[in-house]
Amino acid sequence: AKDAGRDHFKFFSRAMNAKLMERLELEAELRQAIEQQQLMVYYQPVVEVKTQQVVGIEALARWNHPQMGWVSPEKFIPIAEASGLILPLGEWVLKEACSTTRQLQQLGHPVRVAVNVSYQQFRHKGFIELINTTLAQTQLAHEYLELEITESLFIDEQAQTQYMIDILSQLGVRFSIDDFGTGYSALSYLRRFNVHTLKIDRSFIGGIGNNANDASLTRTIIAMAKNFGLDIIAEGVEEQEQHAFLQSHGCGYAQGYFYGKPMPYNDLLDFLQVDEME
Ligand code: C2E
Ligand code: CA
Ligand code: CA
Ligand code: CA
Repeated sequence: AKDAGRDHFKFFSRAMNAKLMERLELEAELRQAIEQQQLMVYYQPVVEVKTQQVVGIEALARWNHPQMGWVSPEKFIPIAEASGLILPLGEWVLKEACSTTRQLQQLGHPVRVAVNVSYQQFRHKGFIELINTTLAQTQLAHEYLELEITESLFIDEQAQTQYMIDILSQLGVRFSIDDFGTGYSALSYLRRFNVHTLKIDRSFIGGIGNNANDASLTRTIIAMAKNFGLDIIAEGVEEQEQHAFLQSHGCGYAQGYFYGKPMPYNDLLDFLQVDEME
């Protein structure tokens, strides 16, 4: 039994090492990718459910590594968050997103841009200044920027969170709660904080049509958002049936492969032009 324990430990520690090595390697590669500007930003359309017209875009980071190929954000964003690389990465995504949105505006497509903000970025002390300088540099008005935050920001340092949201909101920046329904569940924060939009997590939307709980949860979140005067965006809409469900329950906005996948700027331009001609 003793030996078995030791073998188990050896095995465990080897597996741990492999994992740690992979993480460290990926972190080094990511640092280089940021320095050498190997990252890209893709944009996914956000549509009004009733008309399917594009009203906004969400900026999503992409990494095509020369040897490894596409690395999923589900993999590299957590590494960026744990290593501090999320600060330069996030700053770069923000700049790209704002300058793209300004360009679209000048081409006659005035859409709002949503940018994901990690806990570490929001808590970093230069954050408000970063937003202001980036908007000034790219000549984009505050009203066109929406910051996607998660419920984790409402758990600690609430006064600081409220202060920052208030300042940026007064300047015109909008806030949405990403992955709504998956995190911290005390909803009283919705009354207290100046947020504008709830994004219903795609795990709920995926269950519409085959899971009664997901359908009723989605209905409940839509109704609640209405009571609070909040906009609602359903994420991960892939099927006509889900779209119809959302429309019949008065969901204002949606995002998902059914309307358009995340795509590079050039494809987005085509997409918007077609949208306009319809
Ligand atoms: P998220 O913010 O919840 O972004 C939505 C994710 O759903 C994206 O995954 C998008 O590609 C995917 N998606 C959109 N429509 C559909 C659909 O119809 N079906 C399915 N199955 N998926 C859909 P992605 O791009 O892999 O990003 C994963 C997560 O990584 C994001 O989740 C976000 O939390 C994070 N992330 C991505 N870019 C950034 C960034 O620039 N900064 C930060 N802090 N996080 C980012
Ligand atoms: Ca998001
Ligand atoms: Ca989300
Ligand atoms: Ca997410």
